[in-house]
Order: sequence, then C-alpha cells, then structure tokens
Amino acid sequence: MLHYAGLNRWKHYLFKTPMVTTATLNTQVRGGRSTAHCRFCDAPLQATFVNLGSSPLCESYPSAEQIRRGEMHYPLHVYVCENCWLVQLEQYETPESIFTEYAYFSSYSDTWLKHAENYCEKMIERFGLNSDSLVIEVASNDGYLLQYMVQRNIPVLGVEPAANVAKAADAKRVPTLVEFFGTRLAEQLATKQKQADLVLGNNVLAQVPDLNDFVEGLKIILKPNGLLTLEFPHLLKLIELNEFDTIYHEHFSYFSFLTTVRILNVHGLKVFDVEELPTHGGSLRVYACHQSPQSRPTQDSVGRLIEDEEKAGLHSIEAYESFAARARQTKWNLLNFLLTAASEGKSVAGYGAPGKSATLLNYCGIKSDLIEYTVDRSPYKQGRFLPGSHIPIQHPGRIVETKPDYVLILPWNLKNEIMQQLEFIREWGGKFVVPIPELSIE
Ligand SMILES: [Zn+2]
Repeated sequence: MLHYAGLNRWKHYLFKTPMVTTATLNTQVRGGRSTAHCRFCDAPLQATFVNLGSSPLCESYPSAEQIRRGEMHYPLHVYVCENCWLVQLEQYETPESIFTEYAYFSSYSDTWLKHAENYCEKMIERFGLNSDSLVIEVASNDGYLLQYMVQRNIPVLGVEPAANVAKAADAKRVPTLVEFFGTRLAEQLATKQKQADLVLGNNVLAQVPDLNDFVEGLKIILKPNGLLTLEFPHLLKLIELNEFDTIYHEHFSYFSFLTTVRILNVHGLKVFDVEELPTHGGSLRVYACHQSPQSRPTQDSVGRLIEDEEKAGLHSIEAYESFAARARQTKWNLLNFLLTAASEGKSVAGYGAPGKSATLLNYCGIKSDLIEYTVDRSPYKQGRFLPGSHIPIQHPGRIVETKPDYVLILPWNLKNEIMQQLEFIREWGGKFVVPIPELSIE
C-alpha cells in the first residue's frame, strides 16, 4: 500500500483553490520574477529549473518568405513548482496556434513505428483486447499506432487536433476526430457510449496546458474496468542525461513519476504499474485504472520507481536547481567543437530537424555559418528552415553530394538507427557528432 505524506492536505488545497485556467497561465515575468502559478496545484512558481533564453516555436519550420516577415521568439524559462515538483513552462501561445497545423508525422520514424506495434501486441495479450473492445488514443497523430489495432480487428477511435496530420490517418482506416481533448469532448463521447477499454496517450501529457481538465477527461472516457496508459519523457532521465534540448514551448510540463502519481490520484485514478522505456531519451509508460475496491493490485514497479526518484532527490529543490550548470557546459562544449572545426576548414552538416534541434541551436546561438544545412526525411520540412537558427532543411541525398567532414545528429535519441543508415559517410572519412548527454565524436 502506497502512502504519500501530505497528499490529503494537498488534495484539499487543490480543490479549495480555483482551478487553474488557460487564461490565468498567460502571465508575465515582472522584474525577472514570474507571476505564474503551477498549472496543476496553483502554487506560485518562483524556482528556476533552467533558463534557455528565447526561441521561436520549435515545430514552426518557416519558409524563406516567412523568414523575411520575421519570427516571434518566446522565453524558454523553465520553473519547478516547490509544492508538487511539476517542472513547467509558462504558456505563451495558445494550443490552437501550435497544434492545428503540426509538422510532426509519427510514421516517418521506423523506430517509433516498431515501438507502436510492440505496444499493441503487448496490450492485446496482457489485457485480452478483442473485436468487442474499444481503444481510444488521445493525440493519435497520423494513426501510426491505432493502425496495428485495426489490423487485429479491434475497434478504435483517434483524437487529434492537427487536421493535416489527422487526414493521413484515413489511409490507415483509423477513424479520427479532429479535436482538442478535454472534459468537454470526453463528456460528449461518454454520452454516445464511446467509453474505452483502453485509453492511451503517448507524448501528449506534456503538451496539455489545462492539465486538470485533460486528466479528468481521460477518467470520463474510461470504462469502469478500463485501463489507461500514458507515455511521456521521464524527468528523472531528462535530469540525469542532461536532455535540456527536450524542453520546448510545445511541452508545457515535465513529469517525474512522483508528480504523475499525485496528479492521477487527485483525479480518482490509481497507478498500478510502470515501465521504463528507452524512447525519447528515457520515457515512462504508466498504467492506471479507476480507484475502486476492485481496482488492479499495485505492482512492485511502482514503489521501486518512487524510491529511485526519492534517492535522486526529486522531492527536494537541490536536484532541480543544479541542472542549469550542466546545460551551460554542454553549450560551451558544442560551440568549442564547431568553432574549432570552422577554423580548421572542416564542414559540418546536421542530420534531422526534430523539435529539440531548435532548443539546442537557439540556446547555443548556432547559425548556418557553423552548420551549413541539415537534412530530414519528412518532405514537409524539406525546403524550409529550422526556426530561429534559419539553417536550411534539405533532402537526405544532400549528404552524399556534399560529403561533410562531420554529421551532427540532432535527434540523438535515434542515433543508432541514423548511424546505421548513414554508415556510408565513413567512405570519405566522415564522423558523427552526438551533442547530448555530452559531446562525443564517433
Ligand atoms: Zn504545483
């Protein structure tokens, strides 16, 4: 039986305090001090986790014409709530302006597709899903995951706010609602008997400005014996592996397991299992169900991970406040390498144009005089530019044409897959550069 000291006091606090709304989070930094409040528990946000300067929205990929018109930059100042330890950014843009035309198509990554297929097989086997079940995925993207449920004749429903991405789900026979998810949509679905045996949300929790409304919505669409799984990058790994570039405006929150359990708990959901996954630099897959006398027994994994996080100090401010110095060191190391390469007349190209590249390059102040171009497999991004740094994004074939001395792998979480695909750069003595967790030349 798990026990969280202070949870009851805190629960009282949450429900006696007016719920945080999207509007109240649009606050300002005055005199270097934030006036914002935690999007979960409403405590004032005063402790800095890391300040990464300012940068444009990381998935905006401007065209040459858009660059001429100028780009909006927003602060990337990350706070940690000293009441519930939720690490978070203030919200500067509405989700509508970020996510209604989104450039991220999950199906362009082979590794991610395999991950989705394995997940489906595991869930079908472990929880006995069949043609009478319903699986709802929130933020279903282009149907990259639900397609594997469809192939096994399991009814599905996707919810995805980005219309251009959701459209691609049609070809995979994945019915998709083009909507933002929250209690409003959840209640509509529940009224139409659209409650699910399995609700899943992969890499969406971080992108939710109104966290309490979102989690309450998940509870509403879950059948009484239903099962919820959430996957998200693990804050413990972000800290341990120095993954500061995974912080960007589209990700409003960064979750430890401790904080996640609290959030789900307050909304009447019980975490009964957790797995640590290698995806996105170290993620968690959290399993939850309704809190009830019949709820599933808690696995040992839950207590073990809470212990690990407590050992790492995630329930005290010091662990959070020491993070910024490591980000700064990485910046110096990367700049040092690029300046040395430039002075020696060596060429450096990038590989990939993931969201995280915008944070890394803008924080470090790197432009196309140090990295001539990057390449990406997504045709949507080719011909456009990385936000802020304005490094051009080209077709992967460009690497063979220009034979760079170094290829900087920007999606370092996929470095093994990329190094295999680009093994041919060894023919001209090319080397790979991986910036995170610390600079390495391979
Ligand atoms: Zn809080």
